[in-house]
Amino acid sequence: MHGIDLHTHSNISDGTLSPELLVSAALEKGIHTLALTDHDSMDGLIKAEQFAKNQPIRIISGVEVSSQWSRPSTKKNYAVHIVALNMQNPEPLEKVLAEQKCIRAERGKQICDLLISCIGQDIYQDVLAKVEGIPDRITRTHIAKTLVEKGIVSRAQQAFDKYIKEGKKAYVKFDGLGLEETIKVIHESQGFAVLAHPTRYGLSATNIRYLIELFASYAGDAVELPPSIEPLGTRQMVDRLIAQFDLKVSVGSDFHGDHMPWIKLGNIPVVKEGQIGIWESFR
Ligand code: AMP
Ligand code: MN
Ligand code: MN
Ligand code: MN
Repeated sequence: MHGIDLHTHSNISDGTLSPELLVSAALEKGIHTLALTDHDSMDGLIKAEQFAKNQPIRIISGVEVSSQWSRPSTKKNYAVHIVALNMQNPEPLEKVLAEQKCIRAERGKQICDLLISCIGQDIYQDVLAKVEGIPDRITRTHIAKTLVEKGIVSRAQQAFDKYIKEGKKAYVKFDGLGLEETIKVIHESQGFAVLAHPTRYGLSATNIRYLIELFASYAGDAVELPPSIEPLGTRQMVDRLIAQFDLKVSVGSDFHGDHMPWIKLGNIPVVKEGQIGIWESFR
């Protein structure tokens, strides 16, 4: 169990380390099984794998897919992140990711356009400079960082709270794949679908339960265990749902590099007796 991290980001999305430096940092931490799971992109994988050659570490192919779901009783759409792991045939997923990248590129521009009326300036070029000019890499993290650097907010969290999180003026929903389609395409790619950080979407306990049940009904494979900093009661609730819906578990730090210094690479929650790790199914 120790030495596994199945949820990490490089600078292909909103991490700060290149894929190579991420692998190097993982080696220093004694990690032997590392999944690179950038937002809607598998573009860092080859670099990570090349760097890992002849090193005591296995790179698991991965991606964190921006997905969405809804309850039939309400019209509301909820955002959800599905981590895809260990794809044997990445083609179907790559096809869909090409569309997700177009959505991401357009959304980055839309958020910056909406911000103009909030802050009185257009920061799009500065945001683009943070992603080597590649617009499909823009995440809200890059936008938040740019707002900090321009002195418009003091911390990235403030940028979310004031402007770009759900309900705020410059929020733009990621209108990507639905949950069922996401799981389906991951399975077509012969990978495993993991429900990422179920307690981090601001959902009520009822909705977390509904989401996990829905995920299981679409044949989702595993649920990520909450980090140990979350309250014990939260972990116990997730443990119960995992057992009830007969799901496997996944462990990942969601490491992003030094702009989220409280998240340490390789820092993963403890797996309880009776829980089955998704890594045991890796091919
Ligand atoms: P995006 O995929 O463009 O919506 O960006 C999502 C990323 O922004 C997440 O992966 C987090 O790294 C970060 N993020 C999302 N919500 C928040 C928040 N409320 N505060 C700080 N960072 C956040
Ligand atoms: Mn992120
Ligand atoms: Mn996420
Ligand atoms: Mn993540």
